[in-house]
Amino acid sequence: MNPAHYIGGTFLPHSHATTMLPLVDPVDAAVRGQVPEAGRETVDAAVNAARTALNGPWGGTSAEDRAAALRRIADGIQARFEEFVDAEVGDTGKPRELAATVDIPRAIGNFRAYADLLYGRPEHLYATAVPGWSAGSGQALNYTVRRPLGVVAVVSPWNLPLLLLTWKVAPALAAGNTVVAKPSEETPTSATLLAEVIGEAGLPAGVFNLVHGRGAGSAGEYLTTHSDVDAIAFTGASATGAAIMRGAADHITPVSFELGGKNAALVFADADIDAAVDGTARSAFTHSGQICLCTERVYVERPVFEEFVAGLGERARALTGYGPMISAAHRDKVLSYYRLAADENAKIVAGGGVPHFGDARDQGFHVEPTVLTGLPQSSRVVQEEIFGPVCHVAPFDTEEEAVRLANDSRYGLAATVWTTDLSRAHRVAPQIEAGVVWVNCWNLRDLRTPFGGSKDSGIGREGGEHSLDFFSEPVNVCVQV
Ligand code: NAD
Repeated sequence: MNPAHYIGGTFLPHSHATTMLPLVDPVDAAVRGQVPEAGRETVDAAVNAARTALNGPWGGTSAEDRAAALRRIADGIQARFEEFVDAEVGDTGKPRELAATVDIPRAIGNFRAYADLLYGRPEHLYATAVPGWSAGSGQALNYTVRRPLGVVAVVSPWNLPLLLLTWKVAPALAAGNTVVAKPSEETPTSATLLAEVIGEAGLPAGVFNLVHGRGAGSAGEYLTTHSDVDAIAFTGASATGAAIMRGAADHITPVSFELGGKNAALVFADADIDAAVDGTARSAFTHSGQICLCTERVYVERPVFEEFVAGLGERARALTGYGPMISAAHRDKVLSYYRLAADENAKIVAGGGVPHFGDARDQGFHVEPTVLTGLPQSSRVVQEEIFGPVCHVAPFDTEEEAVRLANDSRYGLAATVWTTDLSRAHRVAPQIEAGVVWVNCWNLRDLRTPFGGSKDSGIGREGGEHSLDFFSEPVNVCVQV
């Protein structure tokens, strides 16, 4: 499938675009297609289509009808499961198994979860009534209804393209909004397939619109600074979040941000060390470290430090079949941190370079899974998000020191605690400045729970009711009785 803009229920032909971007396969650097880039006029047309649909039939849709529409979209993705897997693997180079067990099932789950949440709700999502006294005016009945925010811009990254796009599109539609989405210019294909599925699911034209292109000075910026966009839901880098926020300030546009991370794992000496090594290998190296929740800092209690490092190094060296970095530029960024670590005399326990496969993959953007030790906490390698298959492991001596080290970061997205001491787990977890803390597991997700980051890792929480809170506007109605 060729990536194409989808506006008002119609795919625009490529001849419409003035700029085309190459779609590069990160596995072998081959150019596999062309991505049209939306200019201002195209973004304007998409926002207008979304506004028209909001003022038209979609605005009056009941919660139950919206729930049914979300289920039809989920069924539509399910029916074309393999095409979606192909799209995700083609654009990202990720292992097929990962796309087939995580990305696409979770995208389907995103639509089902919000359909479940809506089912049986009153017209405006939910209403709460508070009978009783109102200051200065005697008896009153207060009730609150939820209105959609309006036209929502969804801007998403390349690492989990469909999963992260649908994580916002599903609740935005559930709450009755219309959407203009801009996926990453590096991974536009699954979003284009989604537009097709949404069209087939019979949603009115203009409820979901899709524009492609880059961010700064292009489609992303035109969309997020648009005066007729009522809210922005963004997942991506913290610096991009800051830029979007500056643009959003002009129109006081509300934002929900899921941003970068530099996630810590704390391994206590009482942990099941094999489980901690296995879990950390998964949390550091899944999707070659290109998941915002991946662990890049590991702190291990000194008595088990050597054993843990040896085990993790072994796991890293044994990895095969891993995917590439998304682009040459990102590969070069990750390798610059490998070089910096070497320059700062880190001990390179595993990896540290570029793998050689002896086939077409050598033209692609792979880097070796890497385990480092020996750097100071102040090193840029320990402080900055690398977003590759690499973690630094350092020892600690006390629980207080472990918490202090975990919190010594500008980021606060996720953390993992490995311990068999129940009291310690409950004592340590709430002290960590992060939106999500996993105990003896990683990336175990219930879509109803709050998800998001503190500090530079984001603004707000999404998931379940939290998403519906962001994507709707409470209106209090006060009736004197
Ligand atoms: P990115 O910020 O470079 O790009 C994300 C999206 O924003 C893309 O669609 C891009 O075109 C667009 N964009 C870029 N500049 C823009 C601008 N000035 N205005 C409007 N749009 C703009 O991020 P990326 O490299 O695609 O993704 C990796 C980053 O995303 C990492 O920092 C990672 O931690 C973060 N991330 C966070 C989460 C989370 O849930 N917290 C999930 C996945 C990824």
